[in-house]
Amino acid sequence: MKIRDILAQGKPTLSFEVFPPKTEDNYNTVEKAAKEIAKLKPAFMSVTYGAGGGTSDYTVGIASDIKEYGVTPLAHLTCVSSTREKVQGVLKELKAHGIENVLALRGDIPENGQTPKVYHYASELIREIKQSGDFCIGAACYPEGHVESANKSVDMDYLKQKVEAGCDFVTTQMFFDNSILYSYLYRIREKGITVPVIAGIMPVTNAKQIKRITQMSGTYLPSRFMSIVDRFGDHPAAMKQAGIAYATDQIIDLIANGVNGIHIYSMNKPDVAGKIKENLSEILGNEYTCTP
Ligand code: FAD
Repeated sequence: MKIRDILAQGKPTLSFEVFPPKTEDNYNTVEKAAKEIAKLKPAFMSVTYGAGGGTSDYTVGIASDIKEYGVTPLAHLTCVSSTREKVQGVLKELKAHGIENVLALRGDIPENGQTPKVYHYASELIREIKQSGDFCIGAACYPEGHVESANKSVDMDYLKQKVEAGCDFVTTQMFFDNSILYSYLYRIREKGITVPVIAGIMPVTNAKQIKRITQMSGTYLPSRFMSIVDRFGDHPAAMKQAGIAYATDQIIDLIANGVNGIHIYSMNKPDVAGKIKENLSEILGNEYTCTP
């Protein structure tokens, strides 16, 4: 099924993300985790794509496993380190496996700055995918601005280019303060970007994740969140419980405020995905209207 049709149903949806193995040896471990997460019957499951393209074979493999488990897969695809032949090869494979949804990304520029200089921005990839078949295309967006952007306004202009190039929905970078998303939604709607926005939520279940998150994306960490890390960071089980509760709280607030698409950066952790699903068991799947 195409994700745009799932989102058009107007109900809160929960989706999960997995990342593929780096080597064949770990394939079974990731496949097992994906299978466990698929048992939770999410609206869809996404599979990330290694920045250098090295894990691309496994992205298609895990995405087609997910399809076999009866869940709609979303395969990520990055372009900046890739060639046209490689991109066309992956799209051909996706078609052969009946995978209809692609998240089109530029990918991070490698540290040495060396790229084949075929693709420069995700919008070029979106255009190419659009011409290459009947895919439902998603893209990334950044409520706090992309790290390379001069400012949020310019970043939104480029987001508009991606939507005009043919993307059907966008998924946000993780954020820990919902008010950042609400003001972003207001501003992108003002700019005429009307595609569905799926909120990306990261349940932080160990303190080590925090360093990676801030280095990677410069995401703002509110004091309410930092108190949790300060207090529970050295107690793994407590940190995990508090991290799941924080993510659940964020999600309930988002759904209560009309944000229906919720995507969990579940990091191949079926137990974390399961707890969040359980916490929302009565909230998901209903259609809500606003009562005055
Ligand atoms: P773009 O949309 O191309 O934007 C990159 C930068 O260029 C931005 O600063 C933008 O403002 C600017 N820009 C865009 N168009 C133009 C233009 N025409 N002229 C000048 N500047 C322009 N990475 C992976 O390697 N694998 C994954 O699977 C993966 N999944 C992700 C999923 C989500 C939901 C998100 C939010 C990110 C993901 N990433 C992934 C990370 C992503 O690849 C990086 O954030 C990357 O640096 C930017 O990718 P993009 O597709 O947003 O790029």
